[in-house]
Amino acid sequence: MVNVDEKLEPILNDVLRRNAGEHEFHQAVREVLESVGRVIAKRPHYARNALIERICEPERQIIFRVPWIDDHGQVQINRGFRVQFNSALGPYKGGIRFHPSVNVGIIKFLGFEQTFKNALTGLPIGGAKGGSDFNPRGRSETEIMRFCQSFMTELHRHIGEYVDVPAGDIGVGGREIGYMFGQYKRLTNRYEAGVLTGKALFHGGSRARKEATGYGAAYFVRRMMQIKGLDLEGRKVVVSGSGNVAIYTMEKFIEFGAKVIACSDSNGFVYDENGLDLDLIKEIKEVRRERISTYVLRKGGSARYKEAGSIWTVPCDVAMPSATQNELTGKDAKMLIENGVLAVGEGANMPSTPDAVRLFQEAGVLFAPGKAANAGGVATSALEMQQNASRDSWTFEKTENRLAGIMDNIHDLCAATADEYGAPGDYVLGANIAGFVRVAEAMDALGVT
Ligand code: GLU
Repeated sequence: MVNVDEKLEPILNDVLRRNAGEHEFHQAVREVLESVGRVIAKRPHYARNALIERICEPERQIIFRVPWIDDHGQVQINRGFRVQFNSALGPYKGGIRFHPSVNVGIIKFLGFEQTFKNALTGLPIGGAKGGSDFNPRGRSETEIMRFCQSFMTELHRHIGEYVDVPAGDIGVGGREIGYMFGQYKRLTNRYEAGVLTGKALFHGGSRARKEATGYGAAYFVRRMMQIKGLDLEGRKVVVSGSGNVAIYTMEKFIEFGAKVIACSDSNGFVYDENGLDLDLIKEIKEVRRERISTYVLRKGGSARYKEAGSIWTVPCDVAMPSATQNELTGKDAKMLIENGVLAVGEGANMPSTPDAVRLFQEAGVLFAPGKAANAGGVATSALEMQQNASRDSWTFEKTENRLAGIMDNIHDLCAATADEYGAPGDYVLGANIAGFVRVAEAMDALGVT
């Protein structure tokens, strides 16, 4: 593993000490600090102004109780979080995650990553993340609504279109955003569409927002492959997950002429050498909200379901980890490399462990890190804010064209930055440095804040 520059070591040690036990946050900070050592040499005033220390410390962290009543009349308690990480480039912006694994360390790592991701889009948005350890699995429609209302009853005082603009993430989609927007509107007596993104069209949502993260990741990987002379026609693609990001990654790759042969959920994965039926996956996941195992029962033919084992054992040309953090380990990376993978694109946030990233890079596999490859979702959220501010609603085509242009820009910025810092083709370094420099410059110009 690359080591952190010795000048940055005390900063990293401080982060580890002050955020004890927050492993994912440590991992995310370490990765960025490993890259930015090279920046400090060129820009010594960053050290004088303690910019790195400031960037690693969230501006504000809010933790709150979320009481709600289940369908049996029983009171339930969850914990809510919003970490407002950095507002140098714009109002705090980032999703909300409902998942039992959520804790302050997870939300902090996501907020930290979000800050650089949002900077890479070139749009005026700061970084934040929120969520709760609430588990939506198996909960009724009314329980979900009551939970969202209670969550927003506290959150509403901390957000606003010029303050902090949440959106969805794992466990939070259009339905949950609708309930939260409803509660915000009721509490504030304001139709402030720009306070949340990922809304329904009739509440001021943007066309192509739902598709944006997945489409954007596919655009990024296509460009990364194109400049190496690799096309996608007939290539085998494996996408982990079967949520919003995974579904629209698959859709765009199929449109590009590739063959998507496997996807998964937290129970297992489905596999079909002849290509998956995306309409059926959408029906199972988006309409019926069922497990992916039902795919094989409905589809039959050459489709297979595997409950145990890793989806990364399926040989493929392109791997798109799009489920959750640290889902692709060193062992998985070895298997993918042995099976001849050409490119890996992170649809999820930090899905590859540091070991896996190192192995891909050493093997010369094209590797697109999440903070660059999955920035299309939040970029389109910023386009939603733009539409809300101008009380406009763009066509799908216009929105998707803007998204495609933004993804090309992010790709080219990361590639050019990697070249400039002497590591051509290293998109991890390129993304970390380019994102970091944008945030650091904006912070520095604001004085010591
Ligand atoms: N949760 C998404 C992400 O990880 C989207 C955030 C947003 O649209 O604000 O980038």
